Amino acid sequence: MQVVHSKAEVLAWLQSVRAGNGTLGLVPTMGALHAGHMSLVAASVAENTHTVMSLFVNPAQFGPEEDLDNYPSDLEGDCRKAEAAGVDLVYAGTVDELYPTGYATYVIQEQLTDGLCGTDRPIHFRGMLTIVLKLFNIVRPDIAYFGQKDAQQAAVVTRMARDLDIGVTICVLPIVREPDGLAMSSRNAYLSPAERAAAAVLYQALQEAEAAVAGGMRSAGEITRRVRGRIESEPLAEVDYVELVDCDEISPLAELTGRGLLAVAARFGKARLIDNIVLRTP
Ligand code: AMP
Repeated sequence: MQVVHSKAEVLAWLQSVRAGNGTLGLVPTMGALHAGHMSLVAASVAENTHTVMSLFVNPAQFGPEEDLDNYPSDLEGDCRKAEAAGVDLVYAGTVDELYPTGYATYVIQEQLTDGLCGTDRPIHFRGMLTIVLKLFNIVRPDIAYFGQKDAQQAAVVTRMARDLDIGVTICVLPIVREPDGLAMSSRNAYLSPAERAAAAVLYQALQEAEAAVAGGMRSAGEITRRVRGRIESEPLAEVDYVELVDCDEISPLAELTGRGLLAVAARFGKARLIDNIVLRTP
């Protein structure tokens, strides 16, 4: 496995491996790797001749009050995990090269980015789409792998690939959870032991909503009130949003008919955590 930091080195590596047939998978991450990231790597390694993993904490997707400066990082540990999982190239780009002085071009998507995390994090999706498109242009993968953990991100990236004719297949894989149901996240490292225990309430609340739907509940208002109430029963939790939206358009639903994405964001101390479940009517 090679570890590189510049676009020129990625290009040189691509030229060295691209002579033959085969496909290239890309797993974009911000590092501090956990089993959720590694599930994306496993799929890429299984489905492609070569896999590139990018590690880059992208300043353009963090708001001024957010955790850019404290975001966990462990390049050495990440590279060990990537190599053991069969990654061929780790690309850990630099801010100076990816956002040189005078950088002025961003990708903006309408509608899908208005709600959920777009409300609390107004520049987040602009920054995320911009770096994802830059990584696609630098690495030129056939398939890129994303997690359903960030369901709005997955929908937004899928729409960008379609709208801008990018020619990269977007593959979205299921959420990997801790034994108590908490979705794995690099930000779980911010949790104190008490907050970590409390955070399990997120998935419990989502599962209770699933059970309520199985029992006949259909109104988005009733479903989200129940989930909010369950999360707020945990004193260490502070809810940012609980919403039922269309899985592809990320637009609010009034009633569940067929499929709907039930998405939550809540703060536990310094950590802002998100989770979701796809609800289906029987
Ligand atoms: P991040 O490093 O947090 O930007 O995440 C990089 C990729 O890993 C994104 O596509 C995430 O959706 C995905 N990911 C993060 N956590 C999980 C998880 N628990 N299960 C599956 N995928 C995940």
